[in-house]
Amino acid sequence: MKNEYSALMQIAARPDITFTEGRGSYLYDAEGNAWLDFVQGWAVNTLGHSPEPIAEAICKQSRRLLNPSPAFYNDQAVQLANRLTALSGMDQVFFANSGAEANEGAIKLARKWGQTNRNGAWKIITFHNGFHGRTLATMSATGKPAFEPLFNPKVPGFTKVPYGDLEAVTAAIDEQTVAIMLEPIQGEAGVIPATTEFLQGLRALADRKGLLLMLDEVQTGIGRTGTMFCYRQHGIEPDVVTLGKGLGGGVPIAALMAKAHACCFEYGDQGGTFNGNPLVCAAALAVLDTVTAPEFLDRVNATGAYLREQLHTLARRYEMGEVRGAGLLLALETGSIDAPAVVGHALELGLLINAPRPHTLRLMPSLTVSTAEIDRMVELLDAAIRRRWS
Ligand code: PLP
Repeated sequence: MKNEYSALMQIAARPDITFTEGRGSYLYDAEGNAWLDFVQGWAVNTLGHSPEPIAEAICKQSRRLLNPSPAFYNDQAVQLANRLTALSGMDQVFFANSGAEANEGAIKLARKWGQTNRNGAWKIITFHNGFHGRTLATMSATGKPAFEPLFNPKVPGFTKVPYGDLEAVTAAIDEQTVAIMLEPIQGEAGVIPATTEFLQGLRALADRKGLLLMLDEVQTGIGRTGTMFCYRQHGIEPDVVTLGKGLGGGVPIAALMAKAHACCFEYGDQGGTFNGNPLVCAAALAVLDTVTAPEFLDRVNATGAYLREQLHTLARRYEMGEVRGAGLLLALETGSIDAPAVVGHALELGLLINAPRPHTLRLMPSLTVSTAEIDRMVELLDAAIRRRWS
């Protein structure tokens, strides 16, 4: 049946709600109905909805310079690249418009590096249930079973192995392998963290075999897990890191960062009309100013610990399973409870949460979420869980 939504391609089962405003942890429709948002654009809105520092940066920048073209330098991109390299220990940055595009760039960089440094090696080891995006190459790199039958033939060259299994990675390496690519916490798979032992093992293996270690920090980067980058918690330095989501705090910007030895693009290899435009870079600079302010990440860790505690209490009350994750990227195993049904009940009660798996709830609030908002979320989630009996 034709309705006001029919002109949009239907790419997901969206509820019949049209959001018109957002402030902090809340989203509103035109009638002023409010939803407490613990999805935040899928871990995108680092500082919540329409935060003042980003609004101000965008307004100011929109009057200065929008896009001189990526064929010229602009002051915001230069500043942002310098900030990101200083924060990450990487040497150079290529800006992109989405996480998938940043990962697509990482895949191209690895193939180029293989051509120039490893006798044409081009294959990349990725992981079961990993997620890297929806371009053809990043869908091919993704280990989500539901993607397997889609859009074949896929881009070749991705060898998929079980996450956490160092022996399987070792066994999968051949002459043509050039890189290992993974998320330090598999977000879409249901917030599955890699262990420090596994990540350090991969680093040592990559060094031994002359491979690039590429971390997809699109979901985990920019303070989401309590440190600026998740790999900082594991005492490793990757060769390549990708960022997206939280970097722009709601504005589309992503980044491919690499150590000098991996920065092998030549003129014409990579680019894009909107990449690194000053408008989105100004927004990302405002995000970085806030996230690097003293005590900001301490607060993320404190509110993350508080949220974790409340989820444990709920888990005990309803005999659910484990609570996983880091910082403010957390998941609750729901045991026998149907997680998508809970998400549906929560929506009716005015709460937005996400179920990446049939028995997993994922919580990724604004990094500025308050403990009072966490308390309210738990009340609503509790009521949503109880609804299944009513
Ligand atoms: N990589 C990871 C780890 C992600 O979680 C996502 C999105 O969920 C992507 C890549 C793709 O990012 P985007 O949707 O911005 O293309």
